[in-house]
Amino acid sequence: MLKDTFGRIHDYLRISLTDNCNLRCFYCMPEEEYSFTPHKQLMQVDEIEILAKLFVDQGIRKIRLTGGEPLVRKDAPAIIERLALLPVELHMTSNGIRIDEMLPQLVAAGFKSINISLDTLRAERFLQITRRDYFDRVRRNIDLLLRHGIPTKINMVVMKGINDDEILDFAALTEKNPLEVRFIEFMPFSGNKWTSNQVYTQADIMHQIQQFYPIQAVTAGSHDTAKSFLIPGHVGRIALISTMTAPFCAGCNRIRLTADGKLKNCLFSRDETDLLTGLRAGADVLPLIQENIRAKSKALGGQLTTDFEQIDTDDLTNRSMITIGG
Ligand code: SAM
Ligand code: SF4
Repeated sequence: MLKDTFGRIHDYLRISLTDNCNLRCFYCMPEEEYSFTPHKQLMQVDEIEILAKLFVDQGIRKIRLTGGEPLVRKDAPAIIERLALLPVELHMTSNGIRIDEMLPQLVAAGFKSINISLDTLRAERFLQITRRDYFDRVRRNIDLLLRHGIPTKINMVVMKGINDDEILDFAALTEKNPLEVRFIEFMPFSGNKWTSNQVYTQADIMHQIQQFYPIQAVTAGSHDTAKSFLIPGHVGRIALISTMTAPFCAGCNRIRLTADGKLKNCLFSRDETDLLTGLRAGADVLPLIQENIRAKSKALGGQLTTDFEQIDTDDLTNRSMITIGG
């Protein structure tokens, strides 16, 4: 069992498959000319399977594939096929571009849910945010997932002055589509030029929605990062992820494995533990994993203050989001 010094049991592992991506979202990727990690420095299919099994033996019950964009890896179907055989709930976060190309494998893997990132419903704005012209394809692929009965969530990072005027449009999507739309507060990472005045808070989001819809809270599980709400008459639901204004560290059960095989015990942790080098050298990496979990800070990687307006990004030591795996 992976328990930290605050008694938190970790049973949810997020595995990043790559730091490569076919989009260039300005809030995630440090710069356009970013150089991706060479393939041989990434965990290979067998290595991912070995590490995943080791984590499952230690009590991991849920695995989420992420990145970068997990589906840009040519061997993503092979990785998914192997992980689907483990006794875990399998989930994925994707930008949606390659869903149609890999649909048979995704259906066969029995994903418990797939989250698709979409920050705008306007094609022109999509191009500004992601610096690539794939809006129609992502929209089509969300519909494809729904048609195949795969539980689908939309992740929308809400940023002041960028897309905060689309919150109601996203909420309206849940009327006829059995989707969960998740509104996410904008978070600071290396190179993403975050400033506190770009954070559109959960309170701001709620305010907009409540002006228009009589929403009803759904009881949350103890590890839920999202607070979910029903809108009467809608088949889908909405949810808020308030990392900046109301963090959920007390119930945290998550750890992260980066694509180059480093274990991070928190999205905001300064330190990481290199499991891949140990694994390649034939070492027993379990003690490294246990030590990493024991060292987990009480909240926000011990780096961010809970008063987000006081955060100075110059004081942060972390990777960019794309190299952590969101
Ligand atoms: N490429 C996939 C995608 O876009 O869904 C998976 C990786 S992405 C890093 C995972 C999630 O992190 C996405 O929903 C993305 O919107 C979110 N994300 C990236 N940078 C963020 C930031 N600075 N603040 C909040 N969420 C962020
Ligand atoms: Fe790529 Fe996802 Fe980051 Fe956008 S948010 S650049 S799609 S990894």
